[in-house]
Amino acid sequence: MIIDIHTHTFPPLGSMCGEDPPELQMRFLQHHLYFHHQGWYCEQTKQITLEPSLYDSDKPGINGMRDVDFRVGGFGRLMYTDNGENFWIQWLPPSFRELECTPELLLANMDYVGIDFAVLCPTHIYGELNEYTSNCVRSYPYRFVGIAAIREWRGFEGDEIARLTRAVEEMGLIGLHFATEAFFMVDYLEDWSSKRFDPLWKEVERLNIPVFWDIFSWGNDPWAQWKLEAKRLSDWANRFSQIPSLITHGLPILRWEHSADHVVIPDFIWELYRRPNIYVEVMLPGQLGQEYEYPYPIAKTILYELHQELGPHKLVWGSDLPTIERMVTYRQSLEYLKYCDFLNEEDYGLLTGGNAKRLLKLS
Ligand SMILES: [Zn+2]
Repeated sequence: MIIDIHTHTFPPLGSMCGEDPPELQMRFLQHHLYFHHQGWYCEQTKQITLEPSLYDSDKPGINGMRDVDFRVGGFGRLMYTDNGENFWIQWLPPSFRELECTPELLLANMDYVGIDFAVLCPTHIYGELNEYTSNCVRSYPYRFVGIAAIREWRGFEGDEIARLTRAVEEMGLIGLHFATEAFFMVDYLEDWSSKRFDPLWKEVERLNIPVFWDIFSWGNDPWAQWKLEAKRLSDWANRFSQIPSLITHGLPILRWEHSADHVVIPDFIWELYRRPNIYVEVMLPGQLGQEYEYPYPIAKTILYELHQELGPHKLVWGSDLPTIERMVTYRQSLEYLKYCDFLNEEDYGLLTGGNAKRLLKLS
């Protein structure tokens, strides 16, 4: 059975959904796109910029966010206007006339490529989706499971912990998605690894669910921030050794020392990946597509090294559909793995389903 550990379904971006107002979702999207590698196209100058005027340059949190009429455009674009100039970014593929991904659209993609099962990963950039995700799973229980999300920056509060409990025990979601980027809401002043958040992790432990981490970081020095979050996660995984965790988007190779056929994996990353309760998502087209061309020979190099060092039981394939289709087709997001001839049939099965099954306790 092939399981895609990383997919998204969502109603039209910017529409009312769940318990949070659409304005909050727009703030998340605006923040998410402060530093996006895709770049912003200026309609007036016809140039692409990687430094959009979405925030005050020394304040990458909520307090630095500029009011630039950030909004949803059509055909996969998000837009803003600054000083009379319009900018857009191609965030979803241009075929997304409406910026929406229904469960039926995801299923059609899965059926075409031959994916049996998918994990729905709600994050704030797609809206407040616990109920929406739960409904997707209830409509197609043999094809989807879903993960819950909370307001991470308030994760120490009883209300947010109760939100998680409700999502798992009443809505049938089977994990917690935790994006450290959400701490921009408090200007990154809160530390999720501090003791203050322990009641949340104790509830995760009691619910017996995994955590899906997105520690992909932003800020004026994103790599330093990623290092900080990776170190926090390593300590956390040691402290909460009974909680299994997946590092989504797991391999930010372009931030490590690399060439076309060689990658140096930093020591602190090895330390993190070796933690027994840590799983690592393999979603390499999303990581490599900015710099390399399909089928990414460097992917084979790094997977060989990880496979040799960590064994076959920690790596989990995910696509990040639909945004991955900016880079490659859904089929290609899986098929580059066939060039990894060091994976025998059993190892390939673990990577593309078996490990996900164990992590999620699926029968
Ligand atoms: Zn994603």
